[in-house]
Amino acid sequence: MIIMKTTATKAEVRHVLQRVKDLNLHPHRIAGSERNVIGVVGDGRPVEPTAFIRLPGVASVIPISKPYKLASREFYPENTLIPIGEHVVGNGTPIIIGGPCAVESREQILEVAQSIKAAGAHALRGGAFKPRTSPYSFQGMGEEGLKLLAEARDLTGLPIVTEVTSPELVPLVADYAEVLQIGARNMQNYALLKAAGISNRTVLLKRGMSATINDLLMAAEYILSKGNQNVILCERGIRTFETATRNTTDINAIPVLQALTHLPVILDPSHSTGHWEYVSALARSGIAAGADGIIVEVHPDPANALSDGEQSLKPKRFTTLVKQVNAIADALKMAEISTNPLQ
Ligand code: PEP
Ligand code: MN
Repeated sequence: MIIMKTTATKAEVRHVLQRVKDLNLHPHRIAGSERNVIGVVGDGRPVEPTAFIRLPGVASVIPISKPYKLASREFYPENTLIPIGEHVVGNGTPIIIGGPCAVESREQILEVAQSIKAAGAHALRGGAFKPRTSPYSFQGMGEEGLKLLAEARDLTGLPIVTEVTSPELVPLVADYAEVLQIGARNMQNYALLKAAGISNRTVLLKRGMSATINDLLMAAEYILSKGNQNVILCERGIRTFETATRNTTDINAIPVLQALTHLPVILDPSHSTGHWEYVSALARSGIAAGADGIIVEVHPDPANALSDGEQSLKPKRFTTLVKQVNAIADALKMAEISTNPLQ
């Protein structure tokens, strides 16, 4: 990380950027309000800080100790703020994303979209391409589902979050959705991460069910290193020996990630627990722990849902949950409780 002097001229910054490129390294500029910082990423070969320290305008050169560079808070100490529709993720007010696991029909998605909008949600989720554990399970409606999501957006104004399951599908899904979801099963699909990295859409990257926090941050690094800085991380429960719930919510991951990275972190209490009865409790605990938002499965008729009905909330319960989440966020603000683990 090359920190320029506050007095550095534009020409001096350009000169440093050129020097970085001449050494076959990649510069990533962070234009701060007071000074310029240039992140330098190479291909693993050692680079001596002396290659830059004596250049005009350079204040200091600091090696970043973490294996993920662009994702680390050492590299970018501020929170990354990501606009989604009218909401800004990462600025202290939790984003609430709701919607069915999968888009099933026009009636279903329009009904859910209207009810979550009325409840106060900021974005609509719904899978059109579903990565199912079984090849015999419902695989999603494909592009038809994307069209229905776009119709739901037209009706409600809610931006769309939907999953993309392969690199070839990135341009198609990006045509319809504001946010590309990369699911747990694809967190280490590197071709998909790279394709999402060259897209101009925000990416919601879910933690793999057996992935460590370091694995998740390295996956985010793939996206960031391709030039896409808008990545939101999502804790969605991990596999443990416990069988009473579908997964185990790693609440630890929320403050740990907030300490390690500048990227926003949200919680998915639906896949974390697998049972609707526990979803609200975990959503509340996620916000109290400092999550930047939640993504929750909502279905008007969970008993007949084509996927994840057991963990889906009915709209009425979701409406109550939104109130609870906002009350917790307000209480934290009022008591001036910082959820930044470094403060
Ligand atoms: C989903 O969001 O419906 C989904 C498949 O989630 P995950 O990738 O976390 O299992
Ligand atoms: Mn689901």
